[in-house]
Amino acid sequence: MKLPHPITQTNFDSPVKPGTGWPLDLATSKTPIAKNVTQVRKLARGVKTLTELSAVISTCSACPRLVKWRTDVAVEKRKSFESEPYWGRPATGFGVSDPALLVVGLAPAANGANRTGRIFTGDRSGDWLYRAMYKAGFANQPTSVHSGDGLSLINARVLAAVRCAPPGNKPTPIERDTCANWLTAEFQLLSATLKVIVALGGFAWDRTISTLLKDGFIGRKIKFGHNAKIEFVRADYRILLLGSYHVSQQNTFTGRLTEKMLDEIFRQANQRISSS
Ligand code: SF4
Repeated sequence: MKLPHPITQTNFDSPVKPGTGWPLDLATSKTPIAKNVTQVRKLARGVKTLTELSAVISTCSACPRLVKWRTDVAVEKRKSFESEPYWGRPATGFGVSDPALLVVGLAPAANGANRTGRIFTGDRSGDWLYRAMYKAGFANQPTSVHSGDGLSLINARVLAAVRCAPPGNKPTPIERDTCANWLTAEFQLLSATLKVIVALGGFAWDRTISTLLKDGFIGRKIKFGHNAKIEFVRADYRILLLGSYHVSQQNTFTGRLTEKMLDEIFRQANQRISSS
């Protein structure tokens, strides 16, 4: 049954069909669909632009367990969102195509980005992240309610290391490695302008390190921690990796991550970008 998008009021199926007008959907009915890791690799190597990359990521169906989960959640829906359509597809990177700052998270939330179609949107984690980015000048508004709500990022991009919502927030090693092909392709398209990467949590930290090392950067590998830092260098090019506890409710409700701690991470990111 088609339901109206909460902002545009256009009716959509759940999951949303590619190219039917969902805000920020870059795919069309002709966008190829990767159905296994070999096809992911081939498509990821072939893309030339972020627009092309985001389109093919958004239709990817290479991980059977995650495709089933994201679809089941989209069809069944949480009671409080039962009158809404669910995106139910991979969440692509969001933000500008030539960012100085990249924020890397773990994966979309089942009833957050998997519902709204935009990473860190429609849940408490997104409230924390985009408020901090707004305060540091990386976003035009402090709230992130739904795709189509007017949020835009300034000199920044946000993405997840794994693009589909996983059960229990835990992708398997095979899912992680399959999706790493998209991550590598996106890093390669972004690395000419990147100055700072903020990794939210240990998973994003490890994924970012292995992607940068694979891409020819050199850096001393250290264990994840809040405010951990690594300088990565490739020729005369430098990227600062900053670790932050994830903006999950598990951390923000318990006070493990406070607003002040998160603001300090983005203050440092800002300072590094301004001085380089
Ligand atoms: S997790 Fe990544 S590789 Fe797996 S189906 Fe989703 S987008 Fe494709």
